[in-house]
Amino acid sequence: MSIATTIELISNGRAAGATCTPDLAAPTWDFDTVPGYGPGSSMSDVIPTSAPRQGVIPDEYRNAPDDELHERIERAKATLGDRVVVLGHFYQRDEVVRHADFLGDSFQLANAALTKPDAEAIVFCGVHFMAETADILARDDQRVILPNLAAGCSMADMADIDSVEAAWAELTALYGTEPDADGRVPVIPVTYMNSAADLKAFCGRNGGIVCTSSNAATVLEWAFERGQRVLFFPDQHLGRNTAKAMGISTDRMPMWNPRLAGGGNTAAELLEAQVVLWHGFCSVHRRFTVDQIAQARREHPGVQVIVHPECPMAVVDAADVAGSTDLIRKTVAAATEPTTFAIGTEINMVNRLAAEYPQHTIFCLDPVVCPCSTMYRIHPGYLAWVLEALVRGEVLNEIVVPAAVQIDAKVALERMLAAKPRPLAGQRDPGPAATGTAAPSAAATGTAATTTVRA
Ligand code: SF4
Repeated sequence: MSIATTIELISNGRAAGATCTPDLAAPTWDFDTVPGYGPGSSMSDVIPTSAPRQGVIPDEYRNAPDDELHERIERAKATLGDRVVVLGHFYQRDEVVRHADFLGDSFQLANAALTKPDAEAIVFCGVHFMAETADILARDDQRVILPNLAAGCSMADMADIDSVEAAWAELTALYGTEPDADGRVPVIPVTYMNSAADLKAFCGRNGGIVCTSSNAATVLEWAFERGQRVLFFPDQHLGRNTAKAMGISTDRMPMWNPRLAGGGNTAAELLEAQVVLWHGFCSVHRRFTVDQIAQARREHPGVQVIVHPECPMAVVDAADVAGSTDLIRKTVAAATEPTTFAIGTEINMVNRLAAEYPQHTIFCLDPVVCPCSTMYRIHPGYLAWVLEALVRGEVLNEIVVPAAVQIDAKVALERMLAAKPRPLAGQRDPGPAATGTAAPSAAATGTAATTTVRA
């Protein structure tokens, strides 16, 4: 069920629940010019002044009804054929996902782009850092397009290159640069996939690596083989949850606040640290609470609670399973008996799973409908706009990562690609057989031809 349908049902009193803001019903372009990220989970986060802004698109797209936009997108895609590939993130709205050739998480979609060597253009219906990663991994002559330039990620925007370089200078001044007796350098930088390309490049040129939520444990092991400690950015929760599952004490994971000298820590605390955690978070996953889990267990005895590792530590500890979007999908797909699942991740993905697996009872842990506001900025109007321009031979909203950044970022991404995914310690991987490769049902996505790809 699409968010628009859910909002309509709630406002008409035909469904239980609430939305985080009535502005969710407003068209995307009404909030593209507001100072924050717009309605949804990160609407209160501060948007950096350097974040890209989307200019006004022609009225014919802003005023077109949904059916007309749908037909125009279909027609443009049919005309372009294999010359274009449309990628849709799991958290994207259904009205956009129905046009995607591939559906997946950011890592899977970056790989999916590589499987379409004939495509001249990759239209990425996700957020800015994902399009940058696709541009780094794509062939030089493939053009990567983000339908709405203002579709950023508030978590990624919480770490910028200047703040990270300043932190690095302080830390290396404290730790020195000499390896220990085992040849391990004092500190290794690790960035989550959800970060700007220049931060991935920073890791590449400083002996570091990129991680995803699927392979964060393998990546931290890689880092500790080469370093005495890790600087992990931008998501504190993924860093903390992964390091804790590896047996590292939370006492040895100080938080680095980029606005404070020493990140707000004493030299002694930093010298004791094993993982220095950046003060970043995902506003979507921060909404989940231990109380919601308790309520789900009270109201649905036997419920399986699955949460994403971007959730706070107490939530991950209280859940039955914690893992990436892919692991969440695999866990649901692997259930052979009708099961009740309470899921702690973005609402569009939870609703789609509920439609795709009607034999199970699947609901979002958070009773309030609150989508990822940055993903929400990709409206079908923007998709129609960039696709029809491609038909005319025009490339709009191209994402181009500078060559020097690409070279270093690719080093860190290639290290990431070699680090195989595995679940957090103590948790079971449902196994590759459970990974979906078939198209979600029409009920789940509106139309066919959408394929979930594996990393
Ligand atoms: S769900 Fe969170 S981490 Fe993912 S794009 Fe939205 S704000 Fe960023």
